[in-house]
Amino acid sequence: MKELEERINKDGRVLGKDVLKVDSFLNHQIDPVLMDKMGNEFYQHFKDSGITKVLTVESSGIAPAVMTGLKFEVPVVFARKHKSITLKDDLYTSEVYSFTKKTANHISIAKKYLSADDKVLIIDDFLANGQAVNGLNDIIKDAGASLAGIGIVIEKSFQKGRQLIDKAGIPIYSLARIKAFDNGQVVFEPEND
Ligand code: 5GP
Repeated sequence: MKELEERINKDGRVLGKDVLKVDSFLNHQIDPVLMDKMGNEFYQHFKDSGITKVLTVESSGIAPAVMTGLKFEVPVVFARKHKSITLKDDLYTSEVYSFTKKTANHISIAKKYLSADDKVLIIDDFLANGQAVNGLNDIIKDAGASLAGIGIVIEKSFQKGRQLIDKAGIPIYSLARIKAFDNGQVVFEPEND
C-alpha cells in the first residue's frame, strides 16, 4: 500500500537492528483516516473468504481490526493480555512471547466469542517472528473455528514469521513489507496485491 509506505518513510524511526517505531500513526497516536483505508484494503483482499469474525490482540491491533470489521460488518474480538475480574472463566488461553517487551504473556479470549462456525481473519499491526499470530491460531484451533487468513499492517519480511505462515499454507496479506533496515532507512519489498 503506497500511502502506508510513504507514511513509514516520513514518520517511522528505525530502532536498533530490527524494530520500527511508528508511534505517530499506529502504536500510540492513531491516524483514523489511514486506518480506514487500511481496513478497506484488507476487506478488498479477503472479501470472498466468508469471514465471520476479525480477531486481534490488544492493544495496537485493535484500531486496524475495528476498521476491517467495519467493512465486513462482522464482530471484532481482541485477545486480552491480562486477566481481570470480568474475564476469568471459560477462556481460551495461549502463551505468546512478546517481541517488543521480551516477556511471555498469556492471551485470553472468552469462549462465548469464538465458535466452531467462525471463519476468522486475524489482523495485527506488525509481523516479526509470528508469535502473536501463532497464539491466536492456537485459540482458533481450540475453539474448532477455521482460520481464513491473516492481514498484517507492517511485515518485517526478514524475520521468521512470514516464512512460517507461508509454510503452513495460510493466506496472508501485508500492507507494507519491509525487506531490510539499511543504515536506519527502510527498504521495502516490491508491492504485492
Ligand atoms: P511477533 O509475534 O510476530 O514476533 O511480533 C508481533 C508483535 O510484536 C506485534 O503485535 C507488535 O505489537 C510487536 N512488534 C513486532 N515488531 C515490532 C516493531 O518493529 N515495531 C513495533 N512497534 N511493534 C513490533
